[in-house]
Order: sequence, then C-alpha cells, then structure tokens
Amino acid sequence: MRIVKPPSAMQRIAGQWRRSSVRIGFVPTMGYLHEGHLSLVREARRRVGRSGKVVVSIYVNPTQFGPAEDLSRYPRDLARDCKLCREAGVDVVFVPTDAQMYPGKEAGRYSTYVVEETLSQQMEGASRPVHFRGVTTIVAKLFNIVLPDVAVFGAKDWQQAAIIKRMVANLNFPVKIIVAPTVRESDGVAMSSRNKYLIGDLRPQATVLGRAIKLVQQNVARKTVSAAKLREQVRQLIHKVPAARLDYVEFFDPDTLIPARTVGRGIHIALAVFVGKTRLIDNARL
Ligand code: AMP
Repeated sequence: MRIVKPPSAMQRIAGQWRRSSVRIGFVPTMGYLHEGHLSLVREARRRVGRSGKVVVSIYVNPTQFGPAEDLSRYPRDLARDCKLCREAGVDVVFVPTDAQMYPGKEAGRYSTYVVEETLSQQMEGASRPVHFRGVTTIVAKLFNIVLPDVAVFGAKDWQQAAIIKRMVANLNFPVKIIVAPTVRESDGVAMSSRNKYLIGDLRPQATVLGRAIKLVQQNVARKTVSAAKLREQVRQLIHKVPAARLDYVEFFDPDTLIPARTVGRGIHIALAVFVGKTRLIDNARL
C-alpha cells in the first residue's frame, strides 16, 4: 500500500492506471476510520475486482465546516487509519494537506467552488449553510485527482449521496456512484467518527435516533400518517432524553428528496439530534 500526499502525484498514478485500463474504485473519507468506512472499501474492491485499484482519501475538508463547528477538534489518527486500510487491501491512501488542496486560499487566490442549488437547501443544508458547497467542491476536486471509475458513499449521509449523484449527472463526471448501507453498532447507533465525542452517559442517549426511526416505522407499517403528527411524536420522544435536542426530522421521497406531507412505506426519514454538544444524524427508508 502506498501513502500519497501531493495531489499531483496522486493524479499521475491514477492517470497511469487509466491509460493501462486499470479500474479505479474510490472511497473519500475524513479519516478516523470505522467499520462503516471499511464496508465502503470492501464494496469498492468488489466493484473493481482484484485487478483494479482501491484508493481511500483521508482529508478533513475545512470548507465543509461552518465557523462554529468542530473542524479543529475533529478526531484524527492517521497511523491507525493507514493500518486499517492496509489490512483492508487498499492500494493507495491519499492524504493531501490544506495547502495542497486549497493553494493560495489564505491570500484570496482560491475562488472556485461547485454548488448544487436545490437538494442542498433543506435538512443538513438548512442547518449547516456552507456544508454542501464544501462537500461538492472537495468531491469534485477529488474526482479530478483520483480519476475513479466507481466511487462509494455511505447511506448514513443520505442527502450527501443524493447531492453527489446530482452533481455527477449535471456536470458529466465519468464516475459511477454507489451508495452502501449504513453500518451500526450493536445497539443500533450508526457508526460515526463523531461518536468518539460521546463520553460517559452521553453514549447510551445516542440510541434515541434509532428509537425515533423505529417509532415512526411502527406507526406507518399499516397506514399512512401525517408528517406533522409523526414529527410531534419524534419531538416528544427526544424531549424525554435529557442530553438530546432535536435539530430536524424530515420525511421525503428517497430519490428526489421532495418533502412528504403524508408518510407511508417507501418514504424516507432523516433526522439530526444534538446529544450534548455532538450533532448526530441518521436516516432510513420506512
Ligand atoms: P466521513 O469520514 O464521515 O466523511 O464519511 C466518509 C464516507 O463514509 C461517507 O460516504 C459516509 O457516508 C460514509 N459513512 C460514514 N459512516 C458510515 C456508516 N456508519 N455506515 C456506512 N457508511 C458510512
């Protein structure tokens, strides 16, 4: 396994692979890897086969964090991440620096961004105004550097995956986007690098997201229910958990993200909840 730092070196390696018809599978991450990330790596390997190459990027992208968010304290452990990647059969770990990804930014010479204008307005986009502009920009840049045939994203970030698919379709990126299922802890909590922040009695309280989804699932199993009513039930459930505060809960069509007024099977639920100071998200198809 190679660890590649400069984008120019990564692009050169990827270009050589493409010229010799080697398929490239790509998993972009912010590191502090867990089983969720590794499931994406295995999916990438399945897609490109043994003769293909799998690239994992590890980059905590500053442009997708708001000024009051956790950029500076985002968990990092590059040595452990590299060990996990090596064990998972990754070919290249791409670890660029901020100066390499956003050259000239401090001097005002970085001024090009990729913006998706519709799907990014709601949910995560409403709560985190600069977030998706940062995501689409970094993913577009990474696609231009890693030149993947296939890129794998997690269903854990459902809205993000929908926006990336839209960007790829709208801007003609020659890459196939795969969305792999959310990997969970044994108590149902979706794996996340941010779970590291959940110390002491905060960790058990994080099960409230999964419990909220289950409550809604039971409610709509045999009938349709108004989104307003379900939202109120979720609000009440979360209110009972001392450290939890609901940011949003939304119901929508899984492909278009168009909000649903009545909710039944096949509709998607997504929610964001603060547990202590940590903001957690989860989603599921009902
Ligand atoms: P992150 O490092 O949090 O930016 O995530 C990198 C990729 O891993 C994204 O495509 C996420 O959706 C995906 N991911 C994160 N957590 C999980 C999980 N629990 N299960 C599946 N995929 C995940």
